[in-house]
Amino acid sequence: MARLKKVYEGKAKILYEGPEPGTFIQYFKDDATAFNAQKKATIEGKGVLNNRLSEFFMQGLTNIGVPNHFIRRLNMREQLIRQVEIIPLEVIVRNFAAGSISKRLGMEEGTPLPRPIVEYSYKNDALGDPMVSEEYVVAFGWATQQDLDDIISIALRVNDFLSGVFYGVGIKLVDFKIEIGRIWDGDFMRLIVADEISPDSCRLWDIKTGQKLDKDVFRRDLGSLTDAYTEVAQRLGVLELVELLHPLLVLDTVGLHLRDRPVLHAIELLAQDELGILDDGLDQRQDVERIGRRLGLEAGQGLEHVQGQRLIH
Ligand code: UDP
Repeated sequence: MARLKKVYEGKAKILYEGPEPGTFIQYFKDDATAFNAQKKATIEGKGVLNNRLSEFFMQGLTNIGVPNHFIRRLNMREQLIRQVEIIPLEVIVRNFAAGSISKRLGMEEGTPLPRPIVEYSYKNDALGDPMVSEEYVVAFGWATQQDLDDIISIALRVNDFLSGVFYGVGIKLVDFKIEIGRIWDGDFMRLIVADEISPDSCRLWDIKTGQKLDKDVFRRDLGSLTDAYTEVAQRLGVLELVELLHPLLVLDTVGLHLRDRPVLHAIELLAQDELGILDDGLDQRQDVERIGRRLGLEAGQGLEHVQGQRLIH
């Protein structure tokens, strides 16, 4: 299938026109940036993990009735989402002090806050996403007071949900950022969670050791970001699928070995990714076999046969 038209490219994701009106395809890149893009790197496997993790959180939100843009995952790096009109705000929720609030108020990182605090930054790279007050938001017309009430209620529901999910796997949700979009149903407007929810936009600390499992690992040079995100995915039970999606990631990071059926499935998904085949009825079997042959694989062989080779470049 010919590559669809690019609509927007950001630091970590690309949006393409979707197959139906009102949809986009969201592609997760391996690029990481920090400090308003002053620090940049390509981190192999990050996009694959974030695609899968964002799917996991968005589906969880759907299950508890918090509307969001996620429709379905298409392949390793792409998901089908609803097209929204993004509100130009980063909605940040904090449970413990860290990052900019610690700096601003001289609070030690990790200090519990008296209650979850919701704050806003104006999305503008040239200005470095400055923090803004509700007064600014309403006065400049980025959202109405009613929108803000809805945004706070959504943000706190997301916070309760994510805090619980992470607590269940021994991780403390220190803070996170979400973005909110508008969708229109005739004249009726609704606000839904958009963008992504992943360790790129959360602060996640291991409850016992305090180890950081989020983008601060990259921001502060604390080790391998892929290892940290893989740990999060593994604890949440998402890795099992990521294993199938990205065998090399697993080989590189966890050293697991996949056999037979999973290998074929993984190759099938690689074919989808590499050839950009979505659900368009092409005979994927042939493509899979072609890629398999390129890797020197026969059906039924275990992944040990591809160890040391690179599946994707
Ligand atoms: N955050 C984000 N994108 C941004 C700014 C912040 O995803 O452009 C997330 C960040 O990862 C953290 C939370 O929002 O989980 C709060 O970030 P903070 O205001 O402390 O800013 P930082 O220290 O990241 O500059």
